[in-house]
Amino acid sequence: MDFSGFYKLPVEDRLKRLREAGRISGEDEKLLLDGDALKMDVADRMVENVVGRFHLPFSVVPGVVVNGKEYVVPMVIEEPSVVAACANGCKLARESGGFTADADEPIMIGEMQVVGVGKEAKEKVLEGKERIMEKAKEYAAGVERYGGGMRGLEVREIQTARGEMLILMFEVDVRDIMGANTVNTILEGAAPIVEEVSGGKVRLKILTNLAVKRKARARCVWKREVVGGEVVEGVLDGYEMAAHDIYRCATHNKGIMNGMDAVALATGNDWRAVEAGAHSYAAIGSYKPLTRYYADEGGNLVGEIEVPLAVGTVGGAININPVAQLGQKILGAEGAGELSMVMAAVGLAQNFAALRALGTTGIQAGHMKLHARNLAVIAGAHTPKEIDMVVRKMDESRVYTVENARKIFEGMR
Ligand code: NAD
Repeated sequence: MDFSGFYKLPVEDRLKRLREAGRISGEDEKLLLDGDALKMDVADRMVENVVGRFHLPFSVVPGVVVNGKEYVVPMVIEEPSVVAACANGCKLARESGGFTADADEPIMIGEMQVVGVGKEAKEKVLEGKERIMEKAKEYAAGVERYGGGMRGLEVREIQTARGEMLILMFEVDVRDIMGANTVNTILEGAAPIVEEVSGGKVRLKILTNLAVKRKARARCVWKREVVGGEVVEGVLDGYEMAAHDIYRCATHNKGIMNGMDAVALATGNDWRAVEAGAHSYAAIGSYKPLTRYYADEGGNLVGEIEVPLAVGTVGGAININPVAQLGQKILGAEGAGELSMVMAAVGLAQNFAALRALGTTGIQAGHMKLHARNLAVIAGAHTPKEIDMVVRKMDESRVYTVENARKIFEGMR
């Protein structure tokens, strides 16, 4: 599949390439072009107090190679440079052989809080484990149909300012869904029997977004001869800073989430859940980078990422939003595991591209070049010719502000 020069094409030609590559149909193309895919009545059913719909750019990054398969990755994001950086990181990865990735089984954990517990409550729950599991199973029929279901039950005790509490951890294999609704339903269904068995009172019944049993990992060896020695050294220095400085680490991980969130949004997934999982996982022990870099014996740059990813290819908003379904179709992952592997690879590519720029030329040149187009429009430029002229003059002056854009535009007039 030839996607060379994709970024330089007009929107219509990009869509044509996608159609010719069999990624979208003629109808999908229309849906993306007219931008009215999410109808008002559908939006009104999705959430409360709806008064409109909010549009964001829908982009794709072609040529993302994970485990030898080539993906076209959809991304929805408002921030300039993220898509370009991802494309850049993935291109250099492809030239180095692509990403390898793997994912855990899709096990989500639901927590049930039991308060007012006596001394033997934990033992009682452990003794009554089979009964609790049986009850929970009744509410897991939705995922059992797809090969998922109850997989385990752990019990923890925590000491709090309001006394001792039991925390039951329900482990549920949710297959290809994100799983929150499903896990929460199981928890609420099993609560009465837990009260009966433990003698305590059940309060909170909710999944944890710290999906430690549902991690995805990706790896890439960026070849020294492909990326250059200076880039290898720059990325390694940048990574070490993140590993030893929490101020940098927050931004390091934010850059990873730029890519993963954009894919989560484009595929109709709950990006807040992805965020919560990633940052809480990074904070286990002490807050640390989600990626890791080192040089191999040949001096090549090895990058790795490990991150919990509770994402689905069906369920939740995916079933309702036609644009999310299109995002899923373009990506073409056959299940949640495959989707999470691609997302992990994107997070790694995003991080590599950011460190590559930060460790060498800096990110502002590329970032502001893109942003300059927005500034030109804010300054009043309408036609492509006017926008190009304002951007060119801003590039020459290297002053990327609305004031400068206005001055240039007025001067042109
Ligand atoms: P869901 O309730 O829409 O779907 C669940 C159903 O999908 C299952 O019962 C099953 O019958 C069906 N299904 C179809 N194909 C399947 C397959 N291949 N594998 C497994 N099941 C399949 O979705 P959900 O994933 O349970 O819930 C996700 C939603 O929950 C998201 O919209 C999320 O925003 C929301 N949510 C999140 C949180 C949180 O993150 N803390 C809390 C509450 C709700």
